[in-house]
Amino acid sequence: MIARSPDAQGKNAHREPWQMALQDVVSDSDELLALLGLAPAALAIDGDPAFPLRVPRAFVARMRRHDPDDPLLKQVLPLTAERTLLPGFSHDPLAELAANKLPGLLHKYHGRALLIVTGHCGIHCRYCFRRHFPYAARQPSRQQWSQVFDHIRRDDSISEVILSGGDPLAVPDRQLQWLIDQIEAIPQVSRLRIHSRLPVVIPQRITAALVAMLADTRLQASMVIHANHAQELDEDVAAALQPLRRAGIVLLNQTVLLAGVNDQAETLSALSERLFAIGVLPYYLHLLDQVAGAAHFEVSEPLVHGLRAALLERLPGYLVPRFVRELPHARSKVPVFPGASP
Ligand SMILES: *Cc1c(COP(=O)(O)O)cnc(C)c1O
Ligand code: SF4
Repeated sequence: MIARSPDAQGKNAHREPWQMALQDVVSDSDELLALLGLAPAALAIDGDPAFPLRVPRAFVARMRRHDPDDPLLKQVLPLTAERTLLPGFSHDPLAELAANKLPGLLHKYHGRALLIVTGHCGIHCRYCFRRHFPYAARQPSRQQWSQVFDHIRRDDSISEVILSGGDPLAVPDRQLQWLIDQIEAIPQVSRLRIHSRLPVVIPQRITAALVAMLADTRLQASMVIHANHAQELDEDVAAALQPLRRAGIVLLNQTVLLAGVNDQAETLSALSERLFAIGVLPYYLHLLDQVAGAAHFEVSEPLVHGLRAALLERLPGYLVPRFVRELPHARSKVPVFPGASP
């Protein structure tokens, strides 16, 4: 047996590389801009202590230096524009607080129960509709989790459980395994889905242990990753996703349509092509939720229709994501196309 190094006995003994990467974040605007060779911008703020700048260094490394318009930078840099409050933009645009009757559970759509596994995320995306959600206060205890599982068990129609957040992959494997064990024990549930941005932001998160966990469950597993621009999908991301594909996990992607980041037909078609090249199918293109602080990302309705038409024209049908918006009381995500009323 090899003697343990003193370090391995220290407090980081059980930390995995992805957990270190999750801690190794930039949280200061000036530091971020300096890393990119940019002058401190008058427009940048560190504001909103409830949702501060947070970006892992591995993601910063994919940003172009000396480019204030970099599409990755724009997703994370807090701007003074966030302070502009506009009518229609609210703190809970999807009325999730009302749908969240049991802490940890969102059951809005037929057949699918969504679990809010954690409020933590690897990265803070400025457009996020959950940025104002009081997760910490609503983080379920073990006993509350058992109420969630009772709710699912009692509803025969629920065949799919979605792990979401925050970012469900921000929690340690043993916690994920515990959740999967509970879900597996509910007979009518046949599918498990994970919605996570970590495979893109911190690809080391896809460990062999995680892949094995998803391959070994009786549930049919899928993963919906979240990338908004092809530049996010470097070779590390591509390599991390391969074992999931080999294990038969269906890989999909969701994107948020963001002014100044991906609101051009070339950008969106390059994203779809890149996704397919790394084994992921485009699933949803979400129109921005009207969340306070994100109005500067909104894309006008005519432009949305133009983008959709351009993608249909230039891509195979299976590479055109479904354009949807989420409405508080609708029974599914709502398809967006000309003539459809929101
Ligand atoms: C988006 C979402 C789902 C999943 O919807 P799909 O159309 O099946 O991808 C389920 N529950 C909630 C609360 C959601 O917001
Ligand atoms: S990772 Fe997802 S939940 Fe977290 S801030 Fe980004 S968009 Fe929101």
